[in-house]
Parts: sequence; structure tokens; C-alpha cells
Amino acid sequence: MRIAIPRETAPREQRVALVPETAAKLVKAGFQAAVETGAGLLAGHTDDAYRAAGTAVATDFASCVAGAEIVVKVREPSPQEISAIPEGALLLGLLGRGEDAAQLERYRSRRLGVFSLTAVPRISRAQKMDALSSMAACAGYKAVLLAANTSGKFFPLLMTAAGTVAPSRVLVLGAGVAGLQSIATARRLGAVVEAFDVRPAVKEEVQSLGAAFVDMPLGDAGVGAGGYAKELDEQRNQQIRQTIAARLPTTDVVICTASIPGRRAPLLVTAEALATMRPGSVVVDLAAESGGNCALTRAGETVVQAGVTVHGPLDLAATLPAHASQMYSRNEYELIVHLAKGGTLNVDWSDEITRSSCLTYEGRTVSELLSAGKSA
Ligand code: NAD
Repeated sequence: MRIAIPRETAPREQRVALVPETAAKLVKAGFQAAVETGAGLLAGHTDDAYRAAGTAVATDFASCVAGAEIVVKVREPSPQEISAIPEGALLLGLLGRGEDAAQLERYRSRRLGVFSLTAVPRISRAQKMDALSSMAACAGYKAVLLAANTSGKFFPLLMTAAGTVAPSRVLVLGAGVAGLQSIATARRLGAVVEAFDVRPAVKEEVQSLGAAFVDMPLGDAGVGAGGYAKELDEQRNQQIRQTIAARLPTTDVVICTASIPGRRAPLLVTAEALATMRPGSVVVDLAAESGGNCALTRAGETVVQAGVTVHGPLDLAATLPAHASQMYSRNEYELIVHLAKGGTLNVDWSDEITRSSCLTYEGRTVSELLSAGKSA
């Protein structure tokens, strides 16, 4: 089977779907591969590195995907790109969960077999394909660097001839994959770190990273199915917002990562609470895409109010292209071999990973396919 690795064309995107090391593994496993020229450059990989990995180099998107049975992407292809992908090919990438009806229609009309890494179920068998966790780790790390870069303060305690500099105080909201990486990064930079999550189970993890856990008497009210959070009632949300607000006058940096699957992100930092932060303080809101944890957050923008900077970055993982691509590439590899072990296509609808990650196949959505009796 022939795999195509096109260059990403979304604005600010710097990652590549497969790095040469992974392409070489696939070639060794019996696949053929072609990369679009320059596809890996921003992630640190030259065309020559792909050639050395046994990959052909194509001059443009159309010649890269020509004759391909599998097209691997990071971000969604444009309508023009979709129309160049061979009819019936597999398309793999961070392609959402089918929210975009117009895009689904484009996939259907090309009869593409679209498998989205965003929709891979978070079961232990699929951990190696968990690109959301890989990208969350990258974003959590970069969020702290963005905050440190924006802040006018040192993170660590400094004792110098010019006096003692107090360490920065960082508050991390949400201690899932991104939040834990933020805590670890802020601690490595020497900050004094506190963290809060509605799931009491993460308290020990937070403490083992050297941060203090902000305890609130919530019991299991915020614990939902599968180890994820669930929405709380308004009274508890108020209690959380007040507890967070009380900390903000002495906090230099807030990293927001709190999120509830399929819901708007919980509002944790109100405009009134934000107004009590000292000028020069920084908020980095990784929940910006799903509405933000901070009232002032605007997705994809930076807002400065009374000297407090609120960043609402989108796709921070794309700003760490070398390692984000390396991790993502391994996730892609696992999904490729899951669907086409030994280079032979084996789409098994009785398999949960296959079923959950598929958006369209042979011109139909996966729910249409299953109701047409393709399931086991
Ligand atoms: P997420 O991005 O959905 O949420 C981030 C964090 O926000 C979560 O820890 C959640 O509890 C927290 N949160 C939600 N509402 C909040 C509120 N009001 N206040 C404070 N915090 C709030 O979660 P995630 O990082 O993708 O993963 C969460 C957990 O799922 C992980 O810690 C892990 O236990 C589990 N997980 C399992 C797998 C797997 O088995 N393959 C993979 C990834 C994650």
C-alpha cells in the first residue's frame, strides 16, 4: 500500500504527520511512502532524510497523493486537496468528530475512508494512538513557556548581590494531561505551584510533582464516566470560583486547562476576579477553543486588561513541531498498522477503535454503515 505524506497548509501549522524514522518503519513493514517536498522542514526533517528512509519525494500535493491508498495528515485537508485525493483512499489525521457537516459531505463524495485520531477512544488498548494526550502534553509545556516569556518576573527564587527575588506563583486549573505537564514545567523553572481539579484522584499526582493541591469539599461530585470530569451544579461552581478568586491577588500566572468532554469549558476565573490580579500577571487559557476558563479569553487572541495579559492560544502543540511531530507520528503509525496490518487493508467494524475513529467510509458515515449491517 502506498502512503502519502503531504505538506501541511493550515495557517501556522508546523508539524508533519509522519517523521522519517516512522516512515522507515512503515517501509520496512512493506508499505511504500511518498512525501511532498518540504513537508518535514519546519519539524526538522529534510527531503534527504525522507529519501534515506526509503520515501519518494513529490514536488506538490497532487503528485504526492497520486496513486496513494493512505493519506496521512495532521490537520484537515482543504476542499481542493480533498478533490485531489484518489477516490476510496484512507485519510488519517486530527480530523475532529464529525462536527463539520460540509467537510463530511466532501469526504463522502470522494468515498474516502476517513479515520480521525481526535475520535480514537481513550481505552488502554488505544493508548499508543492517543494523539490528544500527545498534543496536550506539548501544549501544557508550551503554555508555561508562553507565560514565562510574557511575565516580567523570574520563575525561580534568586538570591543575588542585588537582593533576593521571590519566586513566581503559578496556579494551574485542571490537572489532566496538559495540566500535569504545565505543573511539571513550572516546577522545573522554579515557580511555587498550586493546582486545582474537580477530580480528587489527581491530588496525589499533583503533589508528587511538587505542587500544592487546592482542596475543596466536593467529594466525587465532579467525577464523571471513564475518569473524566462532569458538570457541577451552580452552587459548587460558585464555591470553586470564589476559592480561585481568593488566590488571584497573590498569583502571578494562571494556566487554565479545565475541560469537560463535549461541553463548554467551565468558567473558573470571572472578570471581577481577574481584575484583582496585579498588573504584569499572565493567564494562558488552553481551554480557549471550547469557550475558555477565563471570562476575558478570546480564542486565538491575546487580550490585555489593566496590565493583565490573557492569552487564548489555539494549537500550541504546533509551536513545538519537532517533538509534537515525533509523538504524533508514532500515534499515526499505530493507527495505520491497526487498519492495515502487514500492508493489507483490514477494516474490522467489530473493533471499537476502528468504529469510533471512522468518520466516513465508502461514501457513508459510520452510523449509516453500521445500520446497513456492516457491524459484526
Ligand atoms: P480534559 O482535557 O477533558 O480535562 C482536563 C482536566 O480538567 C481534567 O483533569 C478535568 O478533571 C479537569 N476539570 C474539568 N472541570 C473542571 C473544573 N470545573 N475545575 C477544575 N478542573 C476541571 O482531560 P484529559 O487531560 O484529556 O484527561 C483527563 C483524564 O483522563 C486523565 O487524567 C486520565 O486519567 C484519563 N486519560 C486516560 C487515557 C487512556 O486511558 N488512554 C488517555 C488520556 C487521559
